[in-house]
Amino acid sequence: MFEPYVNEPYSDFTDTRNADAYRAAIADVRSRFTQYPLIIGGEPVETGRELESINPARPAEIVGTVSLADQGAAQRALDAAWAAFPAWSRVDGVARARHLVKLAAILRARKYELSAWETIEASKNYLEAEADVAEAIDFCEYYARQAVEVSEPLPVYPYPGEDNESHLVPIGAGIVIPPWNFPLAILVGMTVGPVAAGNTVVVKPASATPVIAAEFMKAVEAAGFPPGVINFLPGAGSEVGDFLVDHPRTRFVNFTGSMEVGLRIAQRASVVHDGQPWLKRAYMEMGGKDALVVDETADLEAAAAAAVVGAFGFQGQKCSAMSRLILVDDVYDEVLERVVALTEALPVGPAEDNVRVNAVITASQQHSILSDIDRGRGEAKLLVGGEAVDLDGGYYIQPTVFGDVGPDAYIAQHEIFGPVVSVLRARDFDNAVEIFNGTQYGLTGGLFSSRRDRIERARQEFHVGNLYINRKITGALVGVQPFGGFNMSGSNAKAGGPDYLRLFMEMKTVAERWL
Ligand code: NDP
Repeated sequence: MFEPYVNEPYSDFTDTRNADAYRAAIADVRSRFTQYPLIIGGEPVETGRELESINPARPAEIVGTVSLADQGAAQRALDAAWAAFPAWSRVDGVARARHLVKLAAILRARKYELSAWETIEASKNYLEAEADVAEAIDFCEYYARQAVEVSEPLPVYPYPGEDNESHLVPIGAGIVIPPWNFPLAILVGMTVGPVAAGNTVVVKPASATPVIAAEFMKAVEAAGFPPGVINFLPGAGSEVGDFLVDHPRTRFVNFTGSMEVGLRIAQRASVVHDGQPWLKRAYMEMGGKDALVVDETADLEAAAAAAVVGAFGFQGQKCSAMSRLILVDDVYDEVLERVVALTEALPVGPAEDNVRVNAVITASQQHSILSDIDRGRGEAKLLVGGEAVDLDGGYYIQPTVFGDVGPDAYIAQHEIFGPVVSVLRARDFDNAVEIFNGTQYGLTGGLFSSRRDRIERARQEFHVGNLYINRKITGALVGVQPFGGFNMSGSNAKAGGPDYLRLFMEMKTVAERWL
């Protein structure tokens, strides 16, 4: 029925035709800055309160404005989602899948345009932006195929004289709360997963990247989703976020973001309010303090290159970013020297010129990263970077490397979420394993080694949801590397994995006796 699933390919931007087409997309997007409404029950809603989205590389540039929801609008959005639920939940899995495949086709046709929005709104260079759009397309295609699978009855043993059947049913209307760092991919994956399973949603985008989310809603409309299946509700987390999380009619909460906010939501979502007939399902995918271990048998050049790519891609603003580099004593100096040299050579500048390291997302994030760097100066040795870069008023920070960081140091434990790496010295491999596991998180991690026994130990003992051997630790592919962490990195929902839709479904078993 559908073609076999394959990941969306990336462009080669060293081909000038692709780079020229991308620049043309940026110019086109820039000529279309506009205002976006909420979308409730398929209808545009203006609230008279506006949220401005700004270009982090040039904060004087307003990329667009979106209407801001209040609690009344949040209530109407949840009502609209419930109104759409009975019909959507009964659309068969194949027809739901067709909606998703159509949505993927629309996103694919708009690939450079949507990437260009990300370049301007989130400061992602061409490769990073296109990878995000490709991942969004992958989520639609992958979950479409799962929508078909989950509509099949589940295997049960036969029993004489009875017809026994178990099948999965969607659970209801929920809310989707994504972060800004993969403003399309994560928002789309967290939305279309539950929707593919037959649920309906209210999407509250991150306040730093509402325009790309609003552009996605145009694709939702073009794909022909019935009104109310996907509602769009930009608004402050503290106002509409808390309201929807607490609401007795919210059936599930699908959150990705920081540990602080995730813990708050998990606690609130566990409270049963008056009139609430269920326990809310609540998935919290949270932060990381991801480490790469390099031992004395590793290909040191490859390890240093992978460390730098994993640390500074999208300015280190990935939950999977390599933020702790653990080097065994024998190779500490050599690897560190390579990492420092590679880091010093990284150009910093505008995403729209496709420079390697771009602005961080907001002024407050820049401020918070710089203050963490200042704290690092007091507890470790600053080797590269450490300063803001003054360019068009943009929120730039030099790629930064600290050496001689103690395993318990603040900068070895706290998620900084910016271009900052802590390098730690391990006495030997045993000590490296201990340091690796010595944080409250457990999202991604990796090992560079050529020793089979150590690779096997890492497979068993590195306590992370996504482990990478002899490669960079970022860039999980939908359907290939299901993604989600352990411990305080979250509920291990495994986005892009084979069980994702089941998180938003429950199993009904029917036994009919013939006589
Ligand atoms: P935040 O936790 O600040 O925000 C995430 C989302 O929660 C935003 O939409 C935000 O809205 C919303 N929010 C804030 N307060 C509330 C509230 N009280 N109730 C409901 N919603 C609320 O995270 P960031 O957006 O800064 O994202 C970065 C974080 O995300 C990092 O910690 C990173 O590691 C993590 N992350 C984890 C991933 C994973 O798979 N484990 C993947 C990607 C990122 P608003 O923007 O309006 O404040």
